[in-house]
Amino acid sequence: MKLSRILSNQNRISRRQANLLLASGRVQVDGKAVRDGAYEVSRFQQVCVDQTVVQAGEPAYYLMMHKPAGYLSATSDQQHPTVMELVAPDLRPHLHIGGRLDRASTGLLILSNDGSWSRALTAPENKLPKTYRVTTAYPLSPDTADRFSEGIWFEYEQLRTSPAQLEQISATEVRLTIYEGRYHQVKRMFHAVGNRVTGLHREAMGPLTLDARLEPGHYRPLSETEIRTVG
Ligand code: URA
Repeated sequence: MKLSRILSNQNRISRRQANLLLASGRVQVDGKAVRDGAYEVSRFQQVCVDQTVVQAGEPAYYLMMHKPAGYLSATSDQQHPTVMELVAPDLRPHLHIGGRLDRASTGLLILSNDGSWSRALTAPENKLPKTYRVTTAYPLSPDTADRFSEGIWFEYEQLRTSPAQLEQISATEVRLTIYEGRYHQVKRMFHAVGNRVTGLHREAMGPLTLDARLEPGHYRPLSETEIRTVG
């Protein structure tokens, strides 16, 4: 919401007074004077006039989890345990999942309550790289890397996937980097070349890499630097 709107939503402050307060430098956002009424304030920021708090600012949460196999990337489910059950109960109601993983998949999962931040990380149009370590049922055929770099046609969405990079680790293990994150994308790409995924572990999303010290099922808050590198 615009800063001028936050001020004039206060009963005690008229629009004219809001403009005067702004011009005099008495309005602070997160402790810094802001004079521009058009400044967009997020719900996580604190707004003060002199020492008086006008908007407290909600706490923002940014977590990375090492998702274990067998947990659904969902907030609740009747049948299967969900990743939310691994999170402290007081945090659960606030969080959403940024970029789901299938139930059997493991690795980097992002949980946050800041929708515009997590959209920057996951929106297919932003084309941020997502890197997976993939185990396949059959040895990789020699043309797979070329087929993936040409893009695979997805009939349902009527689109060709962005060129993906494949690094072969062994006959049945690869590191794959894709640039979208569509529904079951990695499985569908391997299916399209006559293979089948038997193991999928996400190592990285955009600038964020799974912390090697995190055991499966554990999570930690992102650092200020990690938060800033997204978006
Ligand atoms: N692609 C898939 O097919 N599954 C995942 O869990 C992630 C990407």
